[in-house]
Amino acid sequence: MTERNIHAGLPFTDDDETIARALEDVSIPTLMLSMVHMTGDPEILRGALKPAGLFINEVQGFMSEDDKAEIRRQALDVIRAYRDAGCVPAAPPDRALIQEMMSFLVCEPVSDEYVPLMLEELELGGGDSRRVDFDDVDETARGQFPVVVVGCGMSGLLAGIRLKQAGIPFTIIEKNPGVGGTWWENQYPGCRVDVGNHFYCYSFEPSDHWSEFFAQQPELQKYFDDVMDKHAVRDSVRWETEVVGARWIESDSRWAVRTRDKDGNEEELDARAVISAVGQLNRPALPDIAGRDNFRGPSFHSSRWNHDVDYKGKRVAVIGAGASGFQIVPTIAPDVAELTVFQRTAQWMFPNPSYHDKVGPGVQWALRHLPFYGRWYRFLLFWPGCDGAFIAAQIDPEWPTDGNSVSAVNDATREVFTDWIKSQIEDDPELLEKVIPDYPATGKRTLQDNGSWLKALTRDNVELVRKGIARIEADAIVDDDGKRYEVDIIVYATGFQANRFLFPIEVVGRDGVVLSQHWGDEPKAYLGISVPGFPNLFCMYGPGTNLASGGSLIFHSECQMRYISGCIKQLIAGDHRAMEPRETVHDEYFERTQRELEGLVWTHPSITHSWYKNASGRIHILSPWRLVDYWDWTRSPSLEDFDIT
Ligand code: NAP
Repeated sequence: MTERNIHAGLPFTDDDETIARALEDVSIPTLMLSMVHMTGDPEILRGALKPAGLFINEVQGFMSEDDKAEIRRQALDVIRAYRDAGCVPAAPPDRALIQEMMSFLVCEPVSDEYVPLMLEELELGGGDSRRVDFDDVDETARGQFPVVVVGCGMSGLLAGIRLKQAGIPFTIIEKNPGVGGTWWENQYPGCRVDVGNHFYCYSFEPSDHWSEFFAQQPELQKYFDDVMDKHAVRDSVRWETEVVGARWIESDSRWAVRTRDKDGNEEELDARAVISAVGQLNRPALPDIAGRDNFRGPSFHSSRWNHDVDYKGKRVAVIGAGASGFQIVPTIAPDVAELTVFQRTAQWMFPNPSYHDKVGPGVQWALRHLPFYGRWYRFLLFWPGCDGAFIAAQIDPEWPTDGNSVSAVNDATREVFTDWIKSQIEDDPELLEKVIPDYPATGKRTLQDNGSWLKALTRDNVELVRKGIARIEADAIVDDDGKRYEVDIIVYATGFQANRFLFPIEVVGRDGVVLSQHWGDEPKAYLGISVPGFPNLFCMYGPGTNLASGGSLIFHSECQMRYISGCIKQLIAGDHRAMEPRETVHDEYFERTQRELEGLVWTHPSITHSWYKNASGRIHILSPWRLVDYWDWTRSPSLEDFDIT
């Protein structure tokens, strides 16, 4: 029996009433596309009933209640017939119809270049297109190509899954006792993802199980745990072990990878290739504030939350309010005696009233059973939240440079964001002045907000301090004006050392060059993946691949791992010893990336503090590219880009 395409939905026999109830919850424009898969008839898309517009996180396309009810009525007939006929989808839509369906869903013409990407995402044939097929590569040769993967977060796990599928021996080295990386480490109260989960998930796994649209940390960690077991990767991981160094041995074309376990035992592993999957945001950055060590009470970084400390009824200070502080503050505010929030720079936030919403049973039912509903829903999240969002980040050189905005669209975005803030605290001018940022919208990481941030700040027991911190004393924090805030606990939500890639691992490449010294805080890599002088070293979520304008890092990792698998395949199949990108190719890519970045808001001089920038204010960690471009460039490696030994 052939395996059923997971995206085509599981067959069902539910009665009409159950189906009708499920339809109450679902995204109607997405449902209409699924109806095309059930009937093979696109006429439903060509009538008067259609989405009227698109906005991020607005999944109903601004359709009226009457129109939605009418579609539900028609859909019930279609689904009933589909069920009664045994749940067999119609013949797959052709390319032109796919493009029509894409444009219908996002209410604008979608250009040709997105069609192949969408076809891959849809997996109409039931495959897993981002998996590289190794069947045509000699099995013995595969078995003689050991790979070490550094890190078992979202990308390290993916690397393990792909290597396992390829029949390549591998070991994952993970410093934590469990899988998940960032989702293992960040266990602070209120921690949740801010990219919609139906896109922030592996493309080859079902997405019908999420209990919230933006899941909280425990559910995310469990997801990675479950996926790890499903793909039987767990036994290939060495937990609580760090990679302390890796040295390229030119004579053997191998990496010697030095590990240290939690008891201090060191070992050297032999690898033909090393995949770095260490992430960008896991080495805490603690602020250099005078007296920090003098504080007598408990203090800890947001990603090292001390669950032994009971904050209830205590006076708590949160220093830093980026994405982490922004989630911590509303969550703990009701339980603490006093909460003082030290925020150096105000943050732009994106109105998302349904940020904390549960996924209703109807949506879960549709994701599980309706053909390709989940895939189109994914596209509905992808389009406005990713490439479609780029336009607000682009600097218009003709636009007046008053520091408030960088283009007409960016200015309009500022207005939307400002209105959202004002609508919540109109009668509090003092707070209003503190919370409206003084730099262009989307210039730093924009936060998802359902109103809980300002609601927390207006509580009687919460104070927002927008001053610098002069010093920390044994029992207090003193601001730049000399005002003293007595506190029992300090939480440092001050971010990570994002520009120190692979820190603190000592990676020694060809001719004894040490990668950390070579890079300093200016890391660069061809496609964010490979570095001249460091043969057979491949980075996932490497330099220049962080997504600032939106997008799922899992999608990006899938692109990277497909490319890396392609490289490994070339190495094995061609019986090559090593590959590294040509200097010229690497440098040209870097210059191109930098030129592109200069035209984007994140480089704007009005933004003085941002983890996107290194010490000299340059950006090395962000991708300026549309997802469709990066996807296209990483589909398979081009050997001309590499020096092959
Ligand atoms: P962050 O965005 O770097 O924020 C750090 C905060 O600490 C900022 O408010 C920063 O102020 C402040 N700060 C840093 N050094 C300081 C100092 N010396 N004195 C006073 N304040 C100081 O770090 P984060 O909040 O941990 O977030 C990092 C990234 O992780 C996010 O951008 C996001 O990509 C990811 N993240 C995602 C989620 C999610 O998906 N929901 C949640 C958490 C984190 P300035 O703004 O003035 O620098």
